[in-house]
Amino acid sequence: MSTFLGLPSAPPVLAPEKLSILYRGSLASCNYDCPYCPFAKRVDPPELLRQDRAALERFVDWAMATTDVRLSILFTPWGEGLTRSWYREAIVQLSHQPHLDRVAIQTNLAARVEWMADAAPTAALWATYHPGQVTLERFLARCRRLDDLGRRYSVGVVGLPEHHADALELRAALKPSVYLWVNAAEGYTYPAEEEARWTALDPRFGDSVRPHASLGKPCHAGETAISVIGDGTVRRCHFIDTPLGNLYDGSWRAALRPRACTNQICDCHIGYVHLKPLALYDVYGAGVLERIPADR
Ligand code: SF4
Ligand code: SF4
Repeated sequence: MSTFLGLPSAPPVLAPEKLSILYRGSLASCNYDCPYCPFAKRVDPPELLRQDRAALERFVDWAMATTDVRLSILFTPWGEGLTRSWYREAIVQLSHQPHLDRVAIQTNLAARVEWMADAAPTAALWATYHPGQVTLERFLARCRRLDDLGRRYSVGVVGLPEHHADALELRAALKPSVYLWVNAAEGYTYPAEEEARWTALDPRFGDSVRPHASLGKPCHAGETAISVIGDGTVRRCHFIDTPLGNLYDGSWRAALRPRACTNQICDCHIGYVHLKPLALYDVYGAGVLERIPADR
């Protein structure tokens, strides 16, 4: 291909067919006080909340207008998003877009879930039960309401020894079809018998219990999955800082290509689920973002 000056022109930038986006704005406040979390009981100043809302609304406008790509979106706020109306509204609005395959959010499920009745079935929740912050009864009431509404959700716990009895009770009370995942606690080493008892609850606990050596291995992140922050900066994932471009000037499109990981390890589910040698897309299928295995 050449221009009329005889110089080669840039190849056309093609849109990927499908793109998964992990979006994280500046919101970092949370109503809970989990001892293992830096965002516990953090309060965001009003100006930061205004910024977060404006950035999210801009992102939603972009996603609604980007109809040449099939999009799947997971909101991964630092803190709790669903206590803020703009996250609930974003999910409802996006769930009705025909070019969106999925819109999901990580949540502590503290807020009422009635608003999910207005969302299309493409909306899903990645819910975490935090024993000590909420009674099991109250948490289960939210789950049952989601069941009544016919909405997709996964439920998980952090695999600390003091959570095990609660996790057993939770498993027994959830519908068998609801997937209960267990995240290995950060900095905690699991003796074999402890790993086995968590694995009995979550057959995929082994994915979480040891970090994955990822350096040089091919990863969907940066090819068909990206991470976006409030100002539109696009990175391949939440764990590699190098920007690939910006969502709002279109520069992200030319940056997408097959890539190998440049980090030594990947130890967070929202990262390693994209690591190609683990083949976890085969395990989770269409439920990859909200962490629901395909056989559920
Ligand atoms: S609910 Fe989540 S964000 Fe809030 S304190 Fe607990 S771990 Fe942190
Ligand atoms: S393996 Fe993890 S850290 Fe490496 S590129 Fe993929 S998501 Fe990012």
